[in-house]
Amino acid sequence: DKGLAVFTSGGDSQGMNAAVRACVRMAIYLGCKAYFIREGYQGMVDGGEYIQEANWASVSSIIHRGGTIIGSARCKDFRERAGRLKAANNLIQRGITNLVVIGGDGSLTGANLFRQEWSSLLEELLKDGTITEEQRKKFDVLHIVGLVGSIDNDFCGTDMTIGTDSALHRIIEAIDAISSTAYSHQRTFIMEVMGRHCGYLALVGGLASEADFIFIPEMPPKTDWPDRLCVQLAQERSAGQRLNIVIVAEGAMDREGNPITAEHVKKVIDDRLKHDARITVLGHVQRGGNPSAFDRILACRMGAEATLALMEATEESVPVVISLDGNQAVRVPLMECVERTQAVAKAMAERRWADAVKLRGRS
Ligand code: ATP
Repeated sequence: DKGLAVFTSGGDSQGMNAAVRACVRMAIYLGCKAYFIREGYQGMVDGGEYIQEANWASVSSIIHRGGTIIGSARCKDFRERAGRLKAANNLIQRGITNLVVIGGDGSLTGANLFRQEWSSLLEELLKDGTITEEQRKKFDVLHIVGLVGSIDNDFCGTDMTIGTDSALHRIIEAIDAISSTAYSHQRTFIMEVMGRHCGYLALVGGLASEADFIFIPEMPPKTDWPDRLCVQLAQERSAGQRLNIVIVAEGAMDREGNPITAEHVKKVIDDRLKHDARITVLGHVQRGGNPSAFDRILACRMGAEATLALMEATEESVPVVISLDGNQAVRVPLMECVERTQAVAKAMAERRWADAVKLRGRS
């Protein structure tokens, strides 16, 4: 009679639906009641129709769909204890003590806090008569497992996050399309790609599409980067190339911490090289569309593993996040990964780039 609920929180990414499907189906397969919580933590706090029992068919035909069919949101209420108290009651009333949270480091931090507070939340609910002593005893431990849905691949502890591969597909398709028209008109295109303070999408997208120059936050160039950029692009042209592609990650900056934007790069190219230069900002196209085969399978494996981890959890188990290690889906301590991820963000903000790269590890 274990209830398991799955929800998506924070920014969406391709492959979240495949993860939801795998969690639900594995739960049903193992004889557990499965629930959706719609609109992330907001649905957990508001309860009612936002928490719905899921069956085998409710997750049919979603594996190929981008975004998240159960909705995602950012929720202020859950940041306050009063909101988490309401959320706890909504879960208890449905017998849910197992949660799969699919989101970024913020969502996972919130889930961990919720778990730590669980006993005291139940005490409070018991005191004001909202739940019975029997309920308090029966549901005394909350188990949580995290899955990382993010196109940025910026989470420490996993080689790939759910959505990154699909975003890369969007990026290389766009660069391929741009390259053909750039070739015809001998243009230089400056493409801005997402990633916040992580340059993974820019770097891998650039390598996969033969970009001439890539700006990423982790390797800020010296302030004389315009000279190096122009030499590089001019060399490519004199070698017979009819176009240039420059990729700028959205968090790119120079070593002094000055942002490097697509507009800035264009101005340098316009002024010094007199190329016909154009900017394309890929924006939310990168988050949308159907998930790649890789993301579908990654999410299926991670979702199934998340449910298994919950079913095997004991009172002593620490919360885990399911990560990809080589080609294995493995369980790693959630808070250790969250703390490392936050330490990377801090190191980047303090311009300790080498530390950030070291902390981030393999990906
Ligand atoms: P993304 O990577 O897309 O930003 P995220 O999960 O990091 O995803 P956040 O906006 O940081 O996105 O968090 C999503 C939600 O998780 C918040 O709106 C809030 O409801 C909850 N949350 C985040 N941090 C905490 C916290 N410290 N305590 C309680 N809840 C939190």
